[in-house]
Amino acid sequence: MNVEIVTGELVTEVTEEGVTTKSGRFIPAAIKVWSAGIKAPTVLKELGDLQTNRSNQLLTRQTLQTTLDDNVFALGDCAACPQAGTDRIVPPRAQAASQQARFLVKAIERRLNDKPLPSFVYRDRGSLISLDTEQQAVGQLMGKAIKGLMIEGFIARWAYALLYKRHLMALHGGFKTGIMTLGNWLTRPVKGRLKLH
Ligand SMILES: Cc1cc2nc3c(=O)[nH]c(=O)nc-3n(C[C@H](O)[C@H](O)[C@H](O)COP(=O)(O)OP(=O)(O)OC[C@H]3O[C@@H](n4cnc5c(N)ncnc54)[C@H](O)[C@@H]3O)c2cc1C
Repeated sequence: MNVEIVTGELVTEVTEEGVTTKSGRFIPAAIKVWSAGIKAPTVLKELGDLQTNRSNQLLTRQTLQTTLDDNVFALGDCAACPQAGTDRIVPPRAQAASQQARFLVKAIERRLNDKPLPSFVYRDRGSLISLDTEQQAVGQLMGKAIKGLMIEGFIARWAYALLYKRHLMALHGGFKTGIMTLGNWLTRPVKGRLKLH
């Protein structure tokens, strides 16, 4: 699809004409989309005596308790939770937030009952990226049996669609998702070809 991925380059300047990187490379571009990095809201830095990193995330231990207060837990994008055996933190991704939410349901109950807390272990289930509305997607599955399996094209596109339906079902339930899918399918021929997710 004529996409060039440039790694190990830091953008130092963006002008009307294009993008300049630290190594001096200039990439001419009329339209630029900036998607580098995320930052947690500044309110987290102002909560009180809690430690934050430069992305405003609250520093936590592996129990998801903040480093300075046992009774304050953080999860999802606002938490900087260390990953066991690495010097990295749990990535700010939807699957991490959802795993941490499930973990905390049990952990907070244990905390309230003065029992020792387990450590949160992030399990990467892989990533899927939809590239257009038709057949294009790429991804990596990270299940226990199929660790690191790359998929692309039609199969990846189907896996992406199924995952999306699973999210819809979690939010709306099976019946409503079924009706939405049917409605979508019936109105598809008259819809514009615009990709929004
Ligand atoms: C464009 C985009 C694409 C993404 N794509 C993917 C993807 O494909 N796969 C993936 O795994 N992850 C993806 N992510 C990351 C994923 O969305 C987040 O990691 C995930 O939503 C984190 O969940 P969370 O509950 O911690 O935070 P959020 O989902 O951001 O929820 C935080 C909530 O807090 C509310 N809030 C914020 N400040 C305040 C305040 N002061 N008072 C009250 N409420 C407040 C917000 O309105 C929001 O509803 C994407 C993120 C972005 C921005």
